[in-house]
Amino acid sequence: MPEKAKEGLQLTVVYACPICKRNKSKFFMIIKLAQEVMHDADTGELIYMSDEMETLTLSDGRPDLDLRCAICGHVGPLASFVPN
Ligand SMILES: [Zn+2]
Repeated sequence: MPEKAKEGLQLTVVYACPICKRNKSKFFMIIKLAQEVMHDADTGELIYMSDEMETLTLSDGRPDLDLRCAICGHVGPLASFVPN
């Protein structure tokens, strides 16, 4: 797991699927990677593509992570899996 992604996961929080509500233990963590690309605005030609992928982050700098419920398959932002 990329170190950056680990920073976004709170290790002692009980996450729960907001849809099926049964699953509180087994999830897939979805790490969003971005690759910068540049196209010519007139012709659409690909001008540049970065060699590196970077982890997308939220406005506060934490990694932008989604979770997928292993029971019902629901995918949503990590924060939506934290019960109020
Ligand atoms: Zn679920």
